[in-house]
Amino acid sequence: MIKVEKLYKSFGKLDVLKDISTEIKKGEVVAIIGPSGSGKSTFLRCLNLLEVPTAGKIYIDGQDITAKETDIMTIRQNVGMVFQHFHLFPHMTVLENMTYAPIKVKGVAKERAKASAMELLKRVGLAEKADVYPTKLSGGQKQRVAIARSLAMEPEALLFDEPTSALDPEMVKEVLDVMKSLAHTGITMAIVTHEMGFAREVADRILFLDQGRLLEDKTPSEFFSAPSSERAKQFLEKML
Ligand code: ADP
Ligand code: MG
Repeated sequence: MIKVEKLYKSFGKLDVLKDISTEIKKGEVVAIIGPSGSGKSTFLRCLNLLEVPTAGKIYIDGQDITAKETDIMTIRQNVGMVFQHFHLFPHMTVLENMTYAPIKVKGVAKERAKASAMELLKRVGLAEKADVYPTKLSGGQKQRVAIARSLAMEPEALLFDEPTSALDPEMVKEVLDVMKSLAHTGITMAIVTHEMGFAREVADRILFLDQGRLLEDKTPSEFFSAPSSERAKQFLEKML
């Protein structure tokens, strides 16, 4: 569903992504791991054009999204993003957060948008929070709302950038559990994470980035039992 060909991204003189090629199939769950500063967020952000690649091609469902005529808004509807710091709208209730884009961007009727949002809130275990404001929620609850809000746009793929890194330890599991249940629904997921246990259990593939290069692209069992690069070995020794 997502195909990346010889992707490069530079910020001025800083070459952040170097010659990355990979494919993410429909329904696949891919974990992206690697040291801080290795380019994980930049890679993810290129996939829905929050960053514009310097060179290379990215195809989503066969469409070259790096082409000039690409409609960025359509791509972002189709490929949602969940951030470390939730990015909920503070002046809107949970339900308003969730129905805003479906109504404004997709033109979904208000009542229908509300009904779908309630279904999604049930799925993430937060139906009773529909009418509260984000400040009344714990970090774990905020992130579950943020995930539900992304799902409200009915994206084909969802990108997660360290979705549990800003959470207190006791809230990590409730968010990972929601992501785990999502992984079984057939939605395509790319997840930047430092949760090695989760990556090992839930991901179909592991991408290991180091200094902007894709050093490993393997199944979790291959990666965790026998990483081929010295960098990945060192990284895992620190993480596990
Ligand atoms: P990671 O998510 O793996 O920690 P990032 O993709 O955030 O890595 O960053 C990779 C490198 O690119 C870092 O050196 C970072 O400082 C740099 N970088 C990221 N975004 C920008 C930007 N908008 N402008 C300049 N440099 C950036
Ligand atoms: Mg990052």
